[in-house]
Amino acid sequence: MIPVTIPFLPPQEEYNKILEGVWKRKRLTNMGPLASELEMKLKDHLEVKHLLYVTNGTTALQMAIKVLNLKGEIITTPFSFVATTSTIVWEGCTPVFVDINSETLNIDADKIEEAITEKTSAILATHVYGNPCDVEKIDRIAKKYNLKVIYDGAHAFGVKIKDKSIFEYGDISTCSLHATKLYHSIEGGLVVTKSAVLLQKLSSIRNFGISSHDSFQELGINGKNSELHAAMGIVNLNHIDDINEKRKQLSERYDDKLSDFKAYRPKWHHQATINYPYYPIVIDNEELLLKVKANLDLNEIFTRRYFYPSLASSLPYLNSQFFEITEDISKRVLCLPLYYDLTIEEVDMICRLILRVQNN
Ligand SMILES: *Cc1c(COP(=O)(O)O)cnc(C)c1O
Repeated sequence: MIPVTIPFLPPQEEYNKILEGVWKRKRLTNMGPLASELEMKLKDHLEVKHLLYVTNGTTALQMAIKVLNLKGEIITTPFSFVATTSTIVWEGCTPVFVDINSETLNIDADKIEEAITEKTSAILATHVYGNPCDVEKIDRIAKKYNLKVIYDGAHAFGVKIKDKSIFEYGDISTCSLHATKLYHSIEGGLVVTKSAVLLQKLSSIRNFGISSHDSFQELGINGKNSELHAAMGIVNLNHIDDINEKRKQLSERYDDKLSDFKAYRPKWHHQATINYPYYPIVIDNEELLLKVKANLDLNEIFTRRYFYPSLASSLPYLNSQFFEITEDISKRVLCLPLYYDLTIEEVDMICRLILRVQNN
């Protein structure tokens, strides 16, 4: 059986070793020494100014919307994981969808301006599959209309544009360190900002808005993460180069073997590094996709229609809307298995099964 993903697990001794300190200290959470150590290490690794380690990527988005005090409408993409939209609704704002670009699969920056109204307060865009949005154009639009920008960088761990971390763009960027992501701490998330003022507020919000033992400074939430999660993050960070290299090799093998298959790969931002979080292909038509998927299923190889269906047309708490490109792409996109323990031989087998469907 080959699942679409398997979480990376470090050698168990390494995790056990770091837990010895936790047992000695008997401190399990509330921003203990391991959580602080992870923040320092991630700041170094990602080369960002400020960063907070939080519960998960969804809480990170909620905290970002809250701290920027967003109201009214938030322009966003219908082609993302549901948390990108649900957090907007959860925070009492209205998502306003803009269609995606069929090559990059990110929000189409050229269509953002026509969606702006008097009620628009921000743009919340996802770097889909780690591929950076048109951050420069989005920045120009945001400045022109005085809007805030949040990037959902759940897939974008480690990506840089011209030597600068992708997380340094926008007012706040978030990341998810969930077990299925390329780098993880079991559950976990990051909030990244260049602003010291926002950092201080985010830090307070993460801890219930408590300012000292006997005072509250604002409305807060529990956005803290535990020492056991931070420990996994620290240990996994020691393996990140190896993880990246392995994913690169597997992805390039797919590229090579599937070069004659009737599908295309998303067009990556020309100035950005690639982090290989998923292996998506956009297949010629849905019929071929369903045949490929069925043939792989039959051989116990599991793929995922990620992201399908479109968030604009499938959420029970929103009026259904159809966006031409998103509807089309979401029906034709398929993520193939990609994880650290996958082998080149398995990739070859998957590709043979895919090509066999096309050639039949
Ligand atoms: C995984 C993911 C999230 C949510 O992250 P969690 O850590 O699971 O809460 C948000 N946005 C995108 C695009 C994701 O892929």
